[in-house]
Amino acid sequence: MRVLIIGGGGREHALGWAIRRSAERSGRAVALFFAPGNAGTEAIGTNVPLSATDADGLAAWAKEAAIDLAVVGPEAPLMAGVADRFRARGLKVVGPERAAARLEGSKAFAKALMAATGVPTAEFRVVDDAAAARRAVAEFGFPVVLKADGLAQGKGVLIARDHTEAEAALAAFFVERRFGDAAARIVVERFLPGREVSVMGAVAGEAVVLFPPVRDYKRAYDGDAGPNTGGMGAILPPPDVTPEGLGRIEREVFRPILAGLKERGLEYRGILYAGLMLTPEGPKVLEFNVRFGDPETQALVVGAPLDWLALLSAVADGTLDPSDPALRRPAGAKAPQAAVAVVAAREGYPTESRPPIELPALDGDPPARLRKEGAPGDRAPLEEAPDELVLFHAGTFRRAGKLFAGSGRVFALVAGGASLSAARARAYDALRRLLPAESGLFYRTDIGEKEAAEMDV
Ligand code: ATP
Repeated sequence: MRVLIIGGGGREHALGWAIRRSAERSGRAVALFFAPGNAGTEAIGTNVPLSATDADGLAAWAKEAAIDLAVVGPEAPLMAGVADRFRARGLKVVGPERAAARLEGSKAFAKALMAATGVPTAEFRVVDDAAAARRAVAEFGFPVVLKADGLAQGKGVLIARDHTEAEAALAAFFVERRFGDAAARIVVERFLPGREVSVMGAVAGEAVVLFPPVRDYKRAYDGDAGPNTGGMGAILPPPDVTPEGLGRIEREVFRPILAGLKERGLEYRGILYAGLMLTPEGPKVLEFNVRFGDPETQALVVGAPLDWLALLSAVADGTLDPSDPALRRPAGAKAPQAAVAVVAAREGYPTESRPPIELPALDGDPPARLRKEGAPGDRAPLEEAPDELVLFHAGTFRRAGKLFAGSGRVFALVAGGASLSAARARAYDALRRLLPAESGLFYRTDIGEKEAAEMDV
C-alpha cells in the first residue's frame, strides 16, 4: 500500500511511524511518502518536495504515483481544498472537504453549528465591529474571551481580565488589524472555568471511533507561563475523563455535530478534534479542529497502539465500523497505559526566529544514543515493548549529511509507560541524556507533572 502523508511536522512523522508499525504487526507492506516531510520522515519513507497547500500539485503527483491513501496533517491544506481535489480525482484521503473544514477555519461557523445542533459550548456573540463587541463584553462580564473568526495559528484568542485588556484586544483586532482579515469578524465568548482536555476521533459520515483523551500544553514555559505556542507537550490519559465521561462527549458533542454537518450536505471523512472545558455542568466545546493535533498525536500513537493503517483506510473508504473491536485495540497488544510527549523547541520560539543550528544525531527508534542494554530496539513488536521511547522530528533538515534545527519546534520525545509517572520519568531521563546543556533548544520540565502526582495518590 502506498501512503502519502501531507505536512512536515512532528505529527506527520508520528502518523507515518504509527502506520508503519501497524502494518508491520500484521505483515502488510507499506511505502510511505511525505510532502514535504522533514529529516525524520526521510528515514521511514520518501520526502516529496511539494508544499502541503499545493492542492493541484499534490493531487496530480498522488495520481501519478498511484497513492492508495492520503492523510492530511495540518489545517491549512484542508482549508486550501486538498481533500476536495483528491476526491475529485478518485483518490482516497483522510480529511474533510473545504466546506466542512470551516468547523476549524471559521469560529463563527463552528459556534453557529454548535448552537443549531445543541452541542454544549460557551455563550457567544459574533460581531463585526468594536461597538458590538463592547456590548457583548458588557453582557458577559470579566474575564471574557475574544476570538478572531479565522485561522490565526493559535494566537487569535485573547482573554481579557478587565476593561483595559478588552480595549487592547479590540484595538489589536479592529485598529492594528494584527490578524488581518482573520479578525474582520470576531467571536466574543463567556469565560468558562475548568480543566481542559482534548478528544480526537476517526469519523466517516456519522460513524465515529473516539481515541483516548489527551491533554496538551500550549504555553511556552513551565507553570503555563509565556506566550502561546503550537504546543509544547501532551499527555495521555488526563486523569479527569472516565470512560463514562468519554461516552458523554461522544453523545453530546460528536454525534450531534456530525448529524448537523450531514443535514447540511457535508459528509465528514477525517479526524475530528474537540477541545473541551470540563465545567461543573459537564463538558463544553472550546474549539473544533478538523485534523490530528500536534503534539497530541505524538503522545496518542505511542499510548494507543491501534491498527492505525486499518483505521485511517476505513475513514478514507467511508467503511469505518465503530463496532469492530479491532479498530479500538488490536488483539494481543499490551499497550502502554500512559504516554508523555515533550517538545524541544529552538530557543526564541515562538516569538523570535534564530538561525539554524547543528543537532546531535537523533536517528534511530529510539535514538541509538538512548538505547541501553536490553532496551526495546527498532523493530521490537509492541507486545514485547509496552514502554516505548520514540523521537519524532519536527523542524529538522539535513544538509551535507548533518542534521540541523530550524527556528520552531524541533522534535518531540515521547515515552510510554505503565503510568504517567513512569512515562514522565522515562521521557525526561531521555531528554537529559540526549541534549547537552548548551544545545540551543529548550523544553518544558513540567509536562504531566500535576497529573502524574494526582494519579499517584
Ligand atoms: P489552538 O491553538 O488549539 O488552535 P485556537 O486558537 O483555535 O487554539 P481556542 O482553542 O478556541 O483557540 O482557544 C485557545 C485557548 O483559549 C483554549 O485552549 C483555552 O485555554 C482558552 N479559551 C478559549 N475559549 C475559552 C472560554 N470560553 N473560556 C475559558 N478559556 C477559553
